[in-house]
Amino acid sequence: MSDERRLGEHLGRALDRILHDLTDIPAPRVEPSDWQDWPGAESACLWAPDGSGTGVWLDTALPPAEQVVHLADQVQEWAVEELCAARRPTNWPRCPEHPDNHPMTPVVVDSRATWCCPRSGRAVVEIGRLPGDDAARESS
Ligand SMILES: [Zn+2]
Repeated sequence: MSDERRLGEHLGRALDRILHDLTDIPAPRVEPSDWQDWPGAESACLWAPDGSGTGVWLDTALPPAEQVVHLADQVQEWAVEELCAARRPTNWPRCPEHPDNHPMTPVVVDSRATWCCPRSGRAVVEIGRLPGDDAARESS
């Protein structure tokens, strides 16, 4: 690649929030990309340490909360595959009400991107505010 690409502003902001909640596996390397060339789209590739990559994108025409939810869906798919490959439980982010059953689902609640229990429909926590083990995380 000769030209240095930069991560889209909306995509960067949304990814920051989602990756904050991703505590169970190492965060992916985020590589700016223009694979999604729809008007108003911002896209990137997520690269796992094992070299597997996946494309994610968002539509900047959507309200910010919907951008985050749409992106969270895609990051969740990526994370499930990573967890599966690592032979770890794939229910990220774990539902506090049903920790052994299912992951939470990203939903827009009151104009906020929120992790919800898919069974009870309860809004558990805003995306980007999942309590994690901050001390265990690398301070890079
Ligand atoms: Zn649940």
